[in-house]
Amino acid sequence: MSSARQRFEGPSDLHLHSVFSDGTESPAEAMLAVHRAGVRTAALTDHDTTAGWAEGAEAATSLGMTFLPGMELSATDRWRSVHVLAYLFDPDDRALRAETERIRSARLGRAERIVAAIGRDYDLSWDDVVAETGDGATVGRPHIADALVTRGLARDRGEAFSGILAPTSGYYVPHYAPDVRDAVRLIVAAGGVPVIAHPTPAGRDRMMPMPLLRELIALGLGGFELGHRENTPEGIATLRAVAAEHDLIVTGSSDYHGRGKPNMPGEHTTSDEMVARIIARGTGSAPVYP
Ligand code: AMP
Ligand code: FE
Ligand code: FE
Ligand code: ZN
Repeated sequence: MSSARQRFEGPSDLHLHSVFSDGTESPAEAMLAVHRAGVRTAALTDHDTTAGWAEGAEAATSLGMTFLPGMELSATDRWRSVHVLAYLFDPDDRALRAETERIRSARLGRAERIVAAIGRDYDLSWDDVVAETGDGATVGRPHIADALVTRGLARDRGEAFSGILAPTSGYYVPHYAPDVRDAVRLIVAAGGVPVIAHPTPAGRDRMMPMPLLRELIALGLGGFELGHRENTPEGIATLRAVAAEHDLIVTGSSDYHGRGKPNMPGEHTTSDEMVARIIARGTGSAPVYP
């Protein structure tokens, strides 16, 4: 990992998952996949963990890509699940680390409870889920989905999510996650740049109310991930106007999960101008240049 060229190159895909959360590929494999798609700057953003950073940085730079350290922090607005992408924060920040540990341990207990409930009606055990989960990975419904597929109880993750794992199925259990205001505060305090992931999906987790968005902006929210397949066109138009009004960062990314989701590497990208703004603003860690 040298730093010969202190300048990134586009295209940039700033939202990628590996086996350290619910992606199906190692960080090195995910970096290879995005590189093959033409990406030249990549951020690894596993849910609630930085465990893949070292491997991701090494793989990215050896392919000639710039690596941005990132994470997708779980948060909530009342019942709504909110994901906050965090870039260039200090991975050793005490408060943020304590919070991610709390979330990950809550996710583990919650996954066990979901599996216990499913196991009363179907042939599924906790061991089946452990077999689908990488060492030290942030466990989630995607791992339960993989176990259901292995057991022949669903065709793929998508079918598991719309059936047995759906919030309406009777097996669903929520997990602890911080209020989104606290999530933004923690990321900012750790020197990071918070960007709301897929901020305007359809359905249950639809866009947060405008007064809350304004509160988050006042707390140091960096911007919105507007280029993402789950955003609705109307929501994108609304948030584009909010971003312009407050001079916020807007990003686009694939949210690649390997074979775990249909999202293709590089299917949305972030402009060079916006990547430069993220790099200028993040003070907790540094991009790794090839
Ligand atoms: P959890 O955080 O454990 O409730 O699970 C939500 C995660 O599952 C998100 O990070 C998504 O990436 C993933 N997910 C949601 N819906 C689907 C789907 N239909 N197929 C595959 N993965 C999904
Ligand atoms: Fe995910
Ligand atoms: Fe997400
Ligand atoms: Zn994601």
